[in-house]
Amino acid sequence: IECSIIFLRLYRRGLDQLDELRRERDRVQAAYEVKSQFVSVVSHELRTPLTSINGALGLLRTGAYDNDPAKARNILEIAHKNSIRLSALINDLLDLQKLESGQMSYSFDEIDLADIVEECIGAMETFAQTYGISIDFSPGAQPVFVRADRDRLHQVLDNLLSNAVKFSKRGEKVEVRIRRSAGRAWVEVQDHGIGIPPNSREKVFGKFTQVDSSDRRSHGGTGLGLCIAQEIMSAHGGSVDYTSALGEGTTFVIDFPLKD
Ligand code: ADP
Repeated sequence: IECSIIFLRLYRRGLDQLDELRRERDRVQAAYEVKSQFVSVVSHELRTPLTSINGALGLLRTGAYDNDPAKARNILEIAHKNSIRLSALINDLLDLQKLESGQMSYSFDEIDLADIVEECIGAMETFAQTYGISIDFSPGAQPVFVRADRDRLHQVLDNLLSNAVKFSKRGEKVEVRIRRSAGRAWVEVQDHGIGIPPNSREKVFGKFTQVDSSDRRSHGGTGLGLCIAQEIMSAHGGSVDYTSALGEGTTFVIDFPLKD
């Protein structure tokens, strides 16, 4: 009898180990599928602008527009736009890879929020003007200091501001505010643009995903900006969120713990 009990216990342990191995195999397989899907999406995203650059250069190389400088310039413009898109994509991809693997290095400093917001708005001015948008800023009554990496925070604010501008209608205002309360600080970027449909959260924060309609696609962008912004804000002990009403506008908010 003792022998049978020992045998049964060993048999049971063997079965448990087999189950654990099966679960491990499923985990590895799922991770592999996510990775290979990601590679296929990335390849597609990289190939699109590259195909357009190749096509444009091919046309110019054959001399098809040698006698039509205006058309040739137009085609060169398309190639240039796509090469800018390609490098934006590659930069975003490298950032995302560093963020997700925990290899992004941060250099935290005590930062006056109003200072950095003003800097970002200044840098965005020419871009906003091309869209006919003005940006208003309310810094709040008192200075608000947070612990942040200046360059990374710049990146997050640039993303929110450029989205607010891109998705507004000509002549509209984008409003930026700083608020503080109960140990936290918020920067709000409010636009009165096209808005985001309900239940789009996954698309808004997803990789390469845009809340799709030709209108939005035509604004370009990599679909990685907000995903990166989320990772960066989480490293600051904060987050990114939004509220929106379709056709009325969107307010994106980042929040921070306040420096004691
Ligand atoms: P992209 O580089 O495409 O702008 P993001 O990750 O920054 O990528 O944004 C993802 C998508 O979320 C955008 O393509 C757009 O569909 C939607 N979105 C972001 N900000 C706004 C906004 N202020 N108004 C309307 N839609 C927005």
